[in-house]
Amino acid sequence: AKDQGAGNFRIFDRMMADHVAARRQLDLGLRAALRERRFVLYFQPVISGLDGSTIGFEALLRWFDPERGMISPADFIPVAEETGLIVELGGWVLEQACREAMGWPLPLRVSVNVSARQFHAGDLYARVEDALRQSGLPPQRLELEITESVLLQETPALRQTFEALQALGVAVALDDFGIGYSSLAYLRRFPVDRVKIDRSFVKDMHADNDDARIVSSLIVLSHILGMEVTAEGVETEEQQQLLQRAGCDALQGYLISRPLAAAVVPIWLRRQPRG
Ligand code: C2E
Ligand code: CA
Ligand code: CA
Ligand code: CA
Repeated sequence: AKDQGAGNFRIFDRMMADHVAARRQLDLGLRAALRERRFVLYFQPVISGLDGSTIGFEALLRWFDPERGMISPADFIPVAEETGLIVELGGWVLEQACREAMGWPLPLRVSVNVSARQFHAGDLYARVEDALRQSGLPPQRLELEITESVLLQETPALRQTFEALQALGVAVALDDFGIGYSSLAYLRRFPVDRVKIDRSFVKDMHADNDDARIVSSLIVLSHILGMEVTAEGVETEEQQQLLQRAGCDALQGYLISRPLAAAVVPIWLRRQPRG
């Protein structure tokens, strides 16, 4: 089985992920990893733009392979989405994230990335309810991060799921905000609780006046619409200061912390100022 695993990755390494056979190999590798519990959640701190206190953590999936080490989700999530495995994998992420968050001090929140495929699978609400019930985590401490792609196909089922989740008290955040082509139209139809400004805007804020103005305007607009704003990809002090001055509610990025193993979270929290 070990040799077979290495073979899968050799194929993958050759950048043949587009090839049907290679994709199937990766799919098999993912299924085996799910069975063998080779997935791990990391948690990246999100801090308040106001006082720097920790607000919560975003759960980020890692695939731990004995031979290759940690494999980035950017390499396997697209395949899991295509094959549909993301529904099962995402269910595991939800359960695991809620269970971890239950061990954190109140009122720290956990944010979980949810793919369009999961949203449209039809049982997302039931899975969220299950994860909350099994862990005992109050709904107010869970946030789901979706991208525009979730909202592309506006079906009655989508609206129903969206509204049911919000009625339950689970927050919904629109991820990668700003890079889509019509985010504003979606925001009118699907009032989310939070937007996460994509790091491509944050990246050049200090050098590019347009980017700085776009970010400031997005923050003002979001506040007018009753949403909070998280900036992602904060890597420098300068970016942090610009964002804080622009009234950004929450900050996330390597400057604050890389994603942490679950066991490191309590250590991080002990070192942080209290809000
Ligand atoms: P995302 O949701 O936009 O997550 C943020 C990504 O940016 C993470 O990459 C994070 O490690 C990285 N990041 C955080 N701060 C910085 C920074 O200051 N600079 C830079 N350059 N990068 C930063 P990661 O963990 O590799 O995840 C990549 C993407 O994979 C995520 O993007 C998300 O779309 C997807 N993903 C991760 N975990 C899950 C999951 O459980 N379910 C689903 N459906 N997708 C996931
Ligand atoms: Ca995210
Ligand atoms: Ca993002
Ligand atoms: Ca992103």
